[in-house]
Parts: sequence; C-alpha cells; structure tokens
Amino acid sequence: MKDTVRGWRHIPQRYNLIGSKCLECGKVFFPKRIICPECRRKGQLEDIKLRGEGKIYTYSIINTPTDEFKTIAPYVVAIVELDDGAKITTQIVDCNPEDVKIGDEVEMVFRKIREEGDDGVISYGFKFRIKK
Ligand SMILES: [Zn+2]
Repeated sequence: MKDTVRGWRHIPQRYNLIGSKCLECGKVFFPKRIICPECRRKGQLEDIKLRGEGKIYTYSIINTPTDEFKTIAPYVVAIVELDDGAKITTQIVDCNPEDVKIGDEVEMVFRKIREEGDDGVISYGFKFRIKK
C-alpha cells in the first residue's frame, strides 16, 4: 500500500493539513516551518500530516467583517489546539456563534472559501466544525 502513504504528499497543501514535526524535541508546527524555534540548528523538521481534530483554545465572533465576508457574518474564528500539538487559526462553521465554547471538540471539514469574479474559480480550504 505504498500509494496511500505517498498519496497525500502529492495533494496541494490546502487540501491537507501538513505541518512540520521536529525530530529533536517532538513539537509540531502549523503552518510548516523551516527551523524549529526551540532547537534551531540542532532540530530537523519533517512533514507531518495532521489529523485535523482538536479543541477550541480561544475564539472570537466576527460581527463586522470586510465586504467580502459580509454575507456569512456573524461567524466564529478560533484558535484550535490540534491533538497533534499544533495551534491553528481557522473558521468554525455549522454552528450558532453563541453556542461555541472554549474546549469544544472540533474536526476539520473542507469548505468553499470564495468564488472568484468572472472566471468562476472557486477556492476550497479547510475549516473546522464542532463534533457532534
Ligand atoms: Zn525542536
């Protein structure tokens, strides 16, 4: 099953949560880093596919976004602490902003980010939702 192992490396990063793991201290970073801030030269980083599950570390409700995101306001932007150890900033979808709590368990989902102008290009990326 070599292909399943290799597979994710060929998928663009926006469809996967690819972070870096330091082989020296074991810390995980997202987005990817070149150098471990703890170990500097001593540390060696390797790509790691994050599982995309974690807990809400902190969050805020955005009521007055830029024009581009007006139609989806209010919405929740959170820092999620992944089970893998990294913290990432992401939007929380499929929820009432009032129901979101620190410590809620969340999982990654793929969602449309925007439809771009006349060429109709649609971008997708990862977001998170609260686990039921
Ligand atoms: Zn390190």
